[in-house]
Amino acid sequence: MNNSSNAERLDLRSMTLDEMKELTVNMGESAYRADQLFLHISRGVSNIEEIKQLPVSFRKELAKLAYIVTPTIHTVRKSKDGTIKILVRLHDGIMVESVLMHYRHGYSICISCQAGCRMGCSFCASTKKGLARNLSAGEMISQILLLEQLGNCHMSNLVLMGMGEPMDNFENVCNLIDILSDAKGRKLSRRNITISTCGIVPKIRELAERFPQVNLAISLHAPDDERRSMLMPINKKYSISEVMKAVKEHAAKTGRRPTFEYTMVSGENDSEKDAHKLGQLLNKMNAHVNLIPLHIIEGGKSLPTKKNDIIRFQNILNKYGITVTIRRSLGQDIDGACGQLKLSVKI
Ligand code: SAH
Repeated sequence: MNNSSNAERLDLRSMTLDEMKELTVNMGESAYRADQLFLHISRGVSNIEEIKQLPVSFRKELAKLAYIVTPTIHTVRKSKDGTIKILVRLHDGIMVESVLMHYRHGYSICISCQAGCRMGCSFCASTKKGLARNLSAGEMISQILLLEQLGNCHMSNLVLMGMGEPMDNFENVCNLIDILSDAKGRKLSRRNITISTCGIVPKIRELAERFPQVNLAISLHAPDDERRSMLMPINKKYSISEVMKAVKEHAAKTGRRPTFEYTMVSGENDSEKDAHKLGQLLNKMNAHVNLIPLHIIEGGKSLPTKKNDIIRFQNILNKYGITVTIRRSLGQDIDGACGQLKLSVKI
């Protein structure tokens, strides 16, 4: 037994292989022990004692210095379309939400990277109570492990489109990518990871430098600064033209095709004129646009754009050579859709 609290110990699920190597070597063990440890942690082991491949003495010493973070499932909701949403309880009682979606090409998991959010977008439920705290890489990975266990499946795609702003918890998100894609662990292709951001320009540049294979999605939601600033306060700091410049640089450097998310709000950003403005903005960019009908949130007064108007909007964008998908809103009946992930703490 050890008496140290988790606050003083290292969370193994949040550690990259290099960090684990450093730890094991500092403990006087050979580096290959780190490989073994990393593989077991990647497979989701939740207790150091269970890693029988490691010598008993090493496990004992390790447990004095480290632990494995183990968030638990508080609530499960299953949608008619097979989507599963879970409310995950973190060690301090804070809840975050994560969603498992089954597509033809495999299983996609959408995770939260922060409890709450400080970006303040007007139509988004996750930000209404501000930011509670950042999640560690281990807490993000735990959401994946819990959903895979529940759905008895293996994730093929990861999207950071749950609660929080990934670029506002950048170092932990970078660790997450490193850990998940490591060839000695889960080997998730970085091309199967998508980071969605409200447009924090310096971090878009940094992402291109550090992880050129990772996909970038930009939450745009309006074709001009005046309206975007009303919907998304971050636009006052990084205007549309600054975001577009960074996205173009990102695309040129990485060769990845950017996605723009555009939440359609009736009478606010969905006119034919808006479609033309958006078309001109994204013209010649080889961009993809994802139109998302607004999900009405508690206390929200805006309404989603009607299906026919969305199609009209899509057709105009197509004329500019832009590919457009209308997001199939999986899990709407369980509040699992975008912007409905919120801090609904019911402990
Ligand atoms: N902070 C990141 C990721 C989280 S939001 C970002 O801003 O991209 C994931 C996507 O859902 C974003 O495009 C967001 O704008 C959208 N979204 C948020 N609330 C929504 C709502 N009520 N209806 C439809 N889409 C919403």
